[in-house]
Amino acid sequence: MTDHQPPEENYSKANEDFLKAVYLLQQDQERVQTSVLAEALNISAPSTTEMAKKLAKAQLVIHEPYRGIRLTEAGERIALEIVRHHRLLELFLVQALGYAWDEVHEEAEQLEHAVSERLMQRIAEYLGNPRYDPHGDPIPGPEGDIHDRELTPLAEWEIGEKGLIARLRDQSPEMLRYLDDKGLVIAAQVEILKTDPFDGPLTLLVDGTEQVIGVNVAQYILVAPYENPH
Ligand SMILES: [Zn+2]
Repeated sequence: MTDHQPPEENYSKANEDFLKAVYLLQQDQERVQTSVLAEALNISAPSTTEMAKKLAKAQLVIHEPYRGIRLTEAGERIALEIVRHHRLLELFLVQALGYAWDEVHEEAEQLEHAVSERLMQRIAEYLGNPRYDPHGDPIPGPEGDIHDRELTPLAEWEIGEKGLIARLRDQSPEMLRYLDDKGLVIAAQVEILKTDPFDGPLTLLVDGTEQVIGVNVAQYILVAPYENPH
């Protein structure tokens, strides 16, 4: 006999990933369709339905055929805990271990299931109980409380108005490296100098340096007013 039980461990990791994916998709849609969830989890639609049924039995999701899936309160509590682990770990890797912001997501995907509440509490204290991760996503508190902010896509920002970069919607490593090259990082000061017509490029002032980006990239950058960044 060993003290590790891989099948059960994988089972709980799969469940946690499932609940987390529903939570993240629920930010944009009230009920999550099986096909959308299957794509996010990179598993087949039948496996997704099967898992949804199991989790519905455990009263962690509500699954109504043809209407989609949503979390129960108990399901949301688990999802928020995993999201808290993920985002705290990302920030810890950046701030304490010197990782770049495009390198942390995959590490956190693995670690989020393995860490104890005690370790997460110590990491949160070490980081000063932060509210946002390296990509500007809110970090749920130990009770699942979230400090969400009203942010505006840079593409819709007023010309000549100073703002602070607060959150990124596209967090693929390629996009993060591109934004980093342009100085478009969290808490950078940004101002639109001019926009070209017909969805043309935006000319920006980023921490005092002129930069040009496409309007589609500007959709992914969320901005807070300069006076009141949080
Ligand atoms: Zn991540």
